[in-house]
Amino acid sequence: MSLLIKNAVLNDIKSDVLISKGFITNIEQNIDNSTDRTINAEGKIIIPSLKNGHSHSGMTILRGYADDMKLMPWLQEKIWPAEAKLTPEAIYWGTRLASLEMIKSGTTFCNDMYFNFEMSQKAYIDSGIKSASGPALFDFFDPIKAEEMKSNCNYAVENINVSQNNSLTLAAHSIYTLSKESLQWIAHLAKSKNIPVHIHLSETGNEVNECISKYGVRPVELLKKTGLLDTHLIAAHTIWLDDHEIDLLAEYNVTVVHNPVSNMKISTGGVFPYQKLKEKNIKMMLGTDSCASNNNLDMFEDMKIAALLHKFHNNDPEIMKAEEIFDIATGTEASIFPQLSSKIEVGAHADCILLDQNTPALVPSHNITSNLVYSANGSCVDTVICNGEVLMENRKIKDEEEILNQVRSISNKLF
Ligand SMILES: [Zn+2]
Repeated sequence: MSLLIKNAVLNDIKSDVLISKGFITNIEQNIDNSTDRTINAEGKIIIPSLKNGHSHSGMTILRGYADDMKLMPWLQEKIWPAEAKLTPEAIYWGTRLASLEMIKSGTTFCNDMYFNFEMSQKAYIDSGIKSASGPALFDFFDPIKAEEMKSNCNYAVENINVSQNNSLTLAAHSIYTLSKESLQWIAHLAKSKNIPVHIHLSETGNEVNECISKYGVRPVELLKKTGLLDTHLIAAHTIWLDDHEIDLLAEYNVTVVHNPVSNMKISTGGVFPYQKLKEKNIKMMLGTDSCASNNNLDMFEDMKIAALLHKFHNNDPEIMKAEEIFDIATGTEASIFPQLSSKIEVGAHADCILLDQNTPALVPSHNITSNLVYSANGSCVDTVICNGEVLMENRKIKDEEEILNQVRSISNKLF
């Protein structure tokens, strides 16, 4: 299908953007509109869509279920027991709701980690957004559970059809839910099948202390020992790192994901070491984390909060400038996922959004990036295009009512 976006404002210049088969194929003024579909973007800004580097979309059904608790009691007393009740249907509709919310706030990709990823993946495909997801891997140090995990994982890797746009990862939960042997097994599988690994890493000081007392090394060193650093690794949180661990992340080209809202809400005690990671050119993405710890999936909010957190923490307003966090949030450093582009340019994947210039938060327009990071929120997004398909126009999305009704009814039934 071909799509022509007429008269959009691209970098302050009125331009037509031609899209064909999922890619941007031409950008200039006055392109002939003999395309399958044309969008009149008069008065609208076009920008690359936002990319969510870490979430657990199925948990959107637990939005507001348990708040204001410390991480471990929150997980052990509330979240894990609630998750035990989730059916495949609940995970499917929870992920549809997450996708709906992401589309409505300009996000077209999610790097997901959740149980029953087949249902999540189906939900992403039905929603039209891109994703990376895979079997959620944990054994809680129980050899029987470890064997079960391995056979489920092998089955998924061999039998679940993945596509370029909805790709596979091995979702290794963390070093505190996986034994050393299982971490080694995952690293071996990831290398032999060339599948990226997605893990939670050094989210709390406690995780680091336990790792040192159990293994005699810090978490990143444990990942090196088990072979995981040597995979295509994407690590969420990465707060409690020492300088040697940062050097290792750089040496092994690990992509890290900053989740400022979740970290602040759970009060993980430390702050993502943005400046040090940036100095070492470590690739970064921005993530919402789950709706149970955020409690929404609006990446515009996360951009602003990230920038404010680092300025405040360092007592320096020059840290994390608007352009820096905008580049991170649009996936400029997300080369671990080849299905993404972060620029509106010929040859790029056609993942872009339109915002109406007549939105109060975008007026006046001294600096568009400043408005996008510090002033806008997800509700300023008017139109969303992913892989060349129009997923939302004038804020309307098909299936919206059904998704909301399904989630309300399943949530009432389960809780
Ligand atoms: Zn997480």
